[in-house]
Amino acid sequence: MKKTIYLDNAATTKTRPEVVEAMLPYFTEIYGNPSSVYDFSAPAKEAVAKARETIAATIGAPAKDIYFTAGGSESDNWALKATAEAYRSKGNHIITSKIEHHAILHTCEYLEKQGFEVTYLDVDEFGTVKLDELKKAIRPTTILISIMFANNEIGTIQPIKEIGAIAKEHGILFHTDAVQAYGHVPINVNELNIDMMSASGHKINGPKGIGFLYIRTGVKIRSFVHGGAQERKRRAGTENVPGIVGFGKAAEIAAATMDQRAAYESELRDYLIDRVMNEIPYTRVNGHRTNRLPNNVNFAFQFVEGESLLIMLDGKGICGSSGSACTSGSLDPSHVLLAIGLPHEIAHGSLRLTLSEETTREDIDFVVESLKEIVGRLRSMTPLYEDFMKKQAK
Ligand SMILES: *Cc1c(COP(=O)(O)O)cnc(C)c1O
Repeated sequence: MKKTIYLDNAATTKTRPEVVEAMLPYFTEIYGNPSSVYDFSAPAKEAVAKARETIAATIGAPAKDIYFTAGGSESDNWALKATAEAYRSKGNHIITSKIEHHAILHTCEYLEKQGFEVTYLDVDEFGTVKLDELKKAIRPTTILISIMFANNEIGTIQPIKEIGAIAKEHGILFHTDAVQAYGHVPINVNELNIDMMSASGHKINGPKGIGFLYIRTGVKIRSFVHGGAQERKRRAGTENVPGIVGFGKAAEIAAATMDQRAAYESELRDYLIDRVMNEIPYTRVNGHRTNRLPNNVNFAFQFVEGESLLIMLDGKGICGSSGSACTSGSLDPSHVLLAIGLPHEIAHGSLRLTLSEETTREDIDFVVESLKEIVGRLRSMTPLYEDFMKKQAK
């Protein structure tokens, strides 16, 4: 059997064994509903409270400001739709960026249909939001700025502290989609002036289908799921107790291992980037070279079609992701790669590899050797490359 080299940790991660172990009793013995009054339910209720405290501590927030949701997408939807509704009498303008996750972009498009106005900020060639353009975009009617902490495709980390300060200075709410950043880079919601923040369990070696939205005390936000009184009456539904416990455990481990993990992953990341850039010509690195997630690598190989590359890598047991959105049924190249100014044909030849603490140097060496072979083979099959090489030779 061929070995799997899983380098798609931005899509999802392996649930840690300690996390699974922590969750198991909450499926079997400790199955009481946290809202019930009898003693039998008390341990379930306590476990939810403990996970909320653990998670709150990782971002410097009080436990009561953490609201559990069914994941990053729900948190993003909630933050945008419910603040838009709650602040409608103040204004109808929202500022976001062109490189957000679809959970933000498609929600913004929905809000535009409801009569809201949305400014989608451009980014520079590295995928960084330009602060002067953010300031210029602010109107008296602006009620919300939503800018992601770190990009899921190219890994670029945004100047969140500066954005938070600008929002605060203008009395505008600031939400950040921190799904890729949480558990990977330090976050303190007070130092960074964050009013709302989305995170997800399965991106930090926790379970799928659980996330949280941090909502600073004082932010007016409508409840998103109507029903029972759970989550301080803001998000109804019987708590996903095993999920919450697992997320708490994953968050605790992620916080405790962050520095060491980031150092390990960023060294391997740079090793991978350096080898590919030195050994495969006509290649570029997408995203910021240093201001990027420790585990994110994104290349564009000229004269290569990303989907073919992925299929051939899969043949060698390597799991990656392409910049194009073909997998989701569309042939359009990634909106992120277009926003950083890549022409369509180059955006199509992109490859995202996201590492984990389990990735080894041997894995990276195997990936580089495989890439050299595959990129060479794909290029030899395209007349465009042949013409290009002939011109180079002249
Ligand atoms: C994965 C991801 C989401 C969606 O999170 P889910 O928990 O899968 O719904 C949102 N934003 C970003 C940046 C992501 O990477």
